Amino acid sequence: MKAAVFYGPRDIRTEEVEKPKIQDNEILIKVKACGICGSDLHMYKYNMFSVILLRYLKKGGIPGHEYSGVVEEVGTKVVGIKEGDRVVALTSGGMAEYVPVPCFLNDNVFKLPLEVSYEEGATLEPLSNSYHAMMKGKPSKGENVVIFGAGAIGLGLVECLRALDIDINKLIVVDLSDHRLNIAEQLGADEVVNARKTNPRIRINKLVESIPLPQAPEMKMPKVDIIYDCVGYMKEHKGPIVLQQAINMASVNTGRIVVHGIFEGNVSLNIVELVAKQINIIGSFGFTSDEAKKSLELLQTKKVNQSKIISHKFPLDKAKEAFETQCKIDESVKVLIKP
Ligand SMILES: [Zn+2]
Repeated sequence: MKAAVFYGPRDIRTEEVEKPKIQDNEILIKVKACGICGSDLHMYKYNMFSVILLRYLKKGGIPGHEYSGVVEEVGTKVVGIKEGDRVVALTSGGMAEYVPVPCFLNDNVFKLPLEVSYEEGATLEPLSNSYHAMMKGKPSKGENVVIFGAGAIGLGLVECLRALDIDINKLIVVDLSDHRLNIAEQLGADEVVNARKTNPRIRINKLVESIPLPQAPEMKMPKVDIIYDCVGYMKEHKGPIVLQQAINMASVNTGRIVVHGIFEGNVSLNIVELVAKQINIIGSFGFTSDEAKKSLELLQTKKVNQSKIISHKFPLDKAKEAFETQCKIDESVKVLIKP
């Protein structure tokens, strides 16, 4: 079978490899669509996280953990799944014609309802990450929310916040790409800020209302309740670190910062305001199987529209081009590989 095999930074090749044979507890999925994740890019550029992102072969390994397909073979010990079922799976190795998956139904394998296309199904993993991050922030009625980063996770957050109808006051998205910000608006952001052109803090202070400081009511401060950092730290970006901007922006006492972005290195932060304002920084990573089920429901009921975030589709033969395209934030959002 054909597969995209990763060997090292910026070295991915589409090659002929052995078709996998399944164990008793596994299913064999014929892959229909597989997304490139932000974490795949950290691997592609710097070899980070390869251990968890690859299905290892004798030489190199096959990436891809955001995929859907049809069940081709079922191991004798697998229950609840049959040949021909449409499924989404959450293990590595999806950038290939076939992938073997140890099958735990409704945990790492989900049946794909007919209303959800294979392409949308391939975006269940990032959508579930967005859902999880959203819940970590505990958004509630009347709050102002700022999302840094309009990639698949940030845009998924916009969709989830809108789908859940929480009645937040203002939903503001910050990014460096007008293309991505335009999609954020289409998905329901109230305001967008291009940090290349405008200082986010100055702009956001104008967009939200001001409230009296609890300790000194004669003084007022912009109300920024939740900040989602879907950027983290990328070596190639020279601008100010998003987490620092978030600390400086968050409201006294009520401010929460949910960090989903990956950090490609150590950063230095001034945390005077974190202490003085008594704000919370919360890490977010992955999701529960319950959250994946809820996200799948959002897809099935069309409360979210992931087709808007799918920007490119490449055949397996062009895996290298697909990764390079995913690196260009001004052009792409979610790149899919279709074996
Ligand atoms: Zn992912």
